[in-house]
Amino acid sequence: MPSLQSVISCQSDYDPTALPVSQANAIIAEVLEPVSGNEQLAIRSALDRVLAHDVISPIDVPAHDNSAMDGYAFPGQSLSQAEGDVVLEVIGTAYAGNAFDGEAQAGQAIRIMTGAIMPAGCDTVIPQEFVDVQAGGNLIRFASDTVRAGDNRRLRGEDLARGQSALQAGRILTPADLGLLASLGVPEVKVRRRLRVAFFSTGDELRSIGEPLDPGCVYDSNRYTLHGMLRRLNVDLIDMGVVRDEPEAMEAAFRSACENADAIITSGGVSVGDADYTKQIMARLGDVTFWKIAMRPGRPMAFGKIASNGHEAALFGLPGNPVAVMVTFYHFVRTALHRLMGANVTPLPRIRVRSAGPIRKKPGRTEYQRGIVAAGADGTLEVRLTGEQGSGVLRSMSEANCFIVLDHHQGAVAAGDSVEVVLFDGLI
Ligand code: AMP
Ligand code: MG
Repeated sequence: MPSLQSVISCQSDYDPTALPVSQANAIIAEVLEPVSGNEQLAIRSALDRVLAHDVISPIDVPAHDNSAMDGYAFPGQSLSQAEGDVVLEVIGTAYAGNAFDGEAQAGQAIRIMTGAIMPAGCDTVIPQEFVDVQAGGNLIRFASDTVRAGDNRRLRGEDLARGQSALQAGRILTPADLGLLASLGVPEVKVRRRLRVAFFSTGDELRSIGEPLDPGCVYDSNRYTLHGMLRRLNVDLIDMGVVRDEPEAMEAAFRSACENADAIITSGGVSVGDADYTKQIMARLGDVTFWKIAMRPGRPMAFGKIASNGHEAALFGLPGNPVAVMVTFYHFVRTALHRLMGANVTPLPRIRVRSAGPIRKKPGRTEYQRGIVAAGADGTLEVRLTGEQGSGVLRSMSEANCFIVLDHHQGAVAAGDSVEVVLFDGLI
């Protein structure tokens, strides 16, 4: 992997005390490479895992030309020969999974069910609701302009031709993908091994659930939000608890995390003051930089790589404030972990909606305000802020259903302006 220092030295306008979000992400992207190691899994077990190879379709899907409708299959030339009504003789039935053996000639039709193989000689299907069945089912009649030759037929290989790439390496497998693999008759796939992520909280004021809350103390909530967010990324978790603000305890924790995980996430201890001795430990263990990112919330952040006993791990030192942890996780760590796990990196989808009210914002930093998107009075979507936006107010995250992302150069927003939002659906 390229060293952090070499990547940073190639950045023009690099200012670690006011680093734009996009530049921090660009540096992270250059420094991290996927971890190695694959495993072979039955497709059901591969849900949410990262596909390690392209899946090439071993068959044509569908395997035969077949009917898209319940109706009557016939040779399309019967249409051009007719004037006004077409009358066809029904000579048999084709069921899905039970084909019709014979061949239809001009003037003949075969009753056919959806999915049944198109009988020989047939290229067109008239849906049953358009025909008049006569002579006890032996004849059908319909207007010749009801269908055109070739209608209502699905062609062999139309969804996927044999030899075509059905799914590409790096894809995180979805329920639809499992179905697609099954439709190809593929029983197993090779996936990337699960990423191992160690995390701990730092701060002498932190108490764990079950302990009494002494004056000035708070319960450690970051480890729970991190647990939840990491679970959704389907990584192996190593929860290392709360680590005291003390150099020996901290160094031991970093070493142990490094020896057991591919990535380490900490919260707290990167703001001015705290950072001083964390910096000394990091200087001993590896290549870590301390940033002040031009964003709100989430300004201080440490990023780099550390090593202990020949094991290397990526390090994300997130701020301590509970909202800042979630914001920095989704806007830096998520993509970085995808990169480490060998997954395609896809930015969180943003949509534009109308802002219900004015939003204060200064150019020169990216803001991630917590919002609620809902239908406005006219039925179209609008977003309003959850109340208090302080970076310690976890309730604002819990109430929100989106981040309102106000980009670096953007200024204040007036009521009615459109703003970009990232919906939490499935995320938070
Ligand atoms: P720090 O970045 O360590 O200065 O922490 C900033 C603020 O976040 C302080 O008010 C801390 O008490 C709070 N904080 C730090 N870590 C946690 C945590 N794990 N859970 C809840 N609050 C925290
Ligand atoms: Mg602290």
